[in-house]
Amino acid sequence: MKKKELEIILSKLEGFENPKPHLEQYRTPGRAASELLWLAYSLGDIQGKTIADLGAGTGVLTVGALLLGAKKVYAVEVDPDAVRILKRNLKKLGFEDKVDILNSNVSEFFERVDTVIMNPPFGSQKRHADRPFLLKAFEIADVVYSIHLGKKEVRMFIEKFARDNGFVITHRLTTSIEIPAQFFFHRKRLERVVVDIYRFTILNQSAVKSLY
Ligand code: SAH
Repeated sequence: MKKKELEIILSKLEGFENPKPHLEQYRTPGRAASELLWLAYSLGDIQGKTIADLGAGTGVLTVGALLLGAKKVYAVEVDPDAVRILKRNLKKLGFEDKVDILNSNVSEFFERVDTVIMNPPFGSQKRHADRPFLLKAFEIADVVYSIHLGKKEVRMFIEKFARDNGFVITHRLTTSIEIPAQFFFHRKRLERVVVDIYRFTILNQSAVKSLY
């Protein structure tokens, strides 16, 4: 599997039928998803690992992780309409047996996993909607990948929030995505926004050594 192939497969998955703005539902674009997954794969955080996809939506990140050899994925998603689409996408690729779907709020998920992958709400509709996601991720895994708005205030918040929770940022890749304008109340149909893809790890001696 090449990165480009991964991007193409993920771009062809079924998207949300009626995206719900209050849940900030937009399908993770193939390119951003493959950037995140490729980074995780290259660093040994996917193959043979147990993974949680928080706010799994249509399952773009879940499917991508399985294509790259994840052992098992917990897909946590609050919206039953999204879960229906997620199930169809898994079925198309024959991945139903490798995924545990939890139709619940991320705060109600308690399994310990090797790696969290997620594209949480940015908090543009509901202030701080990203916080329960980060908190849960830091609680259940030592390695976390996540996508956030690439704005100075957000970067500062993420750095502090990670540090306060005992995590450090080891990687940050900047890219851009196109998302439906409804999330930002703009007039254009699609809005291009800059996003950062983060890798966090729990702060311990070896993590500190590798940074300095
Ligand atoms: N990566 C997914 C969706 C990202 S959008 C995809 O590519 O399809 C964010 C997702 O988080 C949406 O599906 C939304 O319904 C879900 N969500 C929002 N708040 C949630 C919460 N508190 N608990 C669980 N899921 C939530």
